[in-house]
Amino acid sequence: MPDSGSLSPLVQEVRALADSKGFGSSEARIWEMLALIHTEVSEATDAYKKGESMERVGEELTDALIRILHLVSALGLDADALYRRVMDRNWQRPFRANTVRGG
Ligand SMILES: [Mg+2]
Repeated sequence: MPDSGSLSPLVQEVRALADSKGFGSSEARIWEMLALIHTEVSEATDAYKKGESMERVGEELTDALIRILHLVSALGLDADALYRRVMDRNWQRPFRANTVRGG
């Protein structure tokens, strides 16, 4: 299994940026933060649909990642522990688990 490194420095940087730019991380913003993750994924979808460059699609995906990391911080979650737990569980799944179509 590859070493996944650490997400914590990224979470800390995103939080520091959000704080310094005046974007709150209070519980009152959780719904908004969840919605904004969707908007970034939609922007990536739209960029791909319109034939924009893969760099542009990647930037929108990175926006989504940044918003997810900010929300992880706002919720007080341990990104590294969560990532490891979920990936370990995913590695244990059978090939194409629960997938008859798609995937
Ligand atoms: Mg964007």
